[in-house]
Amino acid sequence: MNKFKKLMIKIKDFILDLIFPNDIKCIFCETDILDFDNKPYCEKCEKSHILNDGNRCIFCDVQILEGNTVCDFCASTPKDFEKAVCPFVYKSQVRSAILNLKENNARWLVPTFAKLMCERLKEENIDFDYIIPIPIHEKTKKRRGYNQSKLLADEIAKITGKPVADNLIIKFKLTKSQKELNFSERQKNLEGSFSLTDKNFVKGKSFLIVDDVITTCATVNTCAKLLKKAKAKSVFVTAVARNPLKK
Ligand SMILES: [Zn+2]
Ligand SMILES: [Zn+2]
Repeated sequence: MNKFKKLMIKIKDFILDLIFPNDIKCIFCETDILDFDNKPYCEKCEKSHILNDGNRCIFCDVQILEGNTVCDFCASTPKDFEKAVCPFVYKSQVRSAILNLKENNARWLVPTFAKLMCERLKEENIDFDYIIPIPIHEKTKKRRGYNQSKLLADEIAKITGKPVADNLIIKFKLTKSQKELNFSERQKNLEGSFSLTDKNFVKGKSFLIVDDVITTCATVNTCAKLLKKAKAKSVFVTAVARNPLKK
């Protein structure tokens, strides 16, 4: 390639960068988009049904058939939290983005995810006193370097002005992988692995539990249960994505 051609390509890239800076790319597929502040994902991604919209369970926010208010699972197994809100469905590109946040240090996703979670909380008029990130075990934190739920909680704190009650719930026992377990197996696997460090602090206060993904609700429910036992006034839950239960 001659020098002139190389220069022209450089100029073209420079101009494209001016029109489409890197921070206005779709958070899932990196397509250039124009209205990042209102919608940080492209039309193609939106059309692949990644948004957790439509008719949803009033408790666990899972998508359900029109005309129903509660999913079968919440109807048969009441939860210890008031309500959960999740902006996305855990599938395809959402799943890759969350895995990147979890394992590959893709922290740049945190402010956008937190903003969308806060929008959902606001839509539902959810109010709370303290934010609690789902804790991870020290060993997991050492391996990963950070707790993705804590990053999300800190960002939600910035947006809402509500404090993070860090270390109020701690995870002191490593649990087996939960992937193949159902709700009651998960709950059993988790019970006794989380602990509340200050029971008196909880009484009469309301909390927002923050996680990256909700699948069976076992993890968030275990923490909600601890808070309710200590007489918390209310417990709400938010996660980036709702993973629909396998039938
Ligand atoms: Zn996209
Ligand atoms: Zn439900």
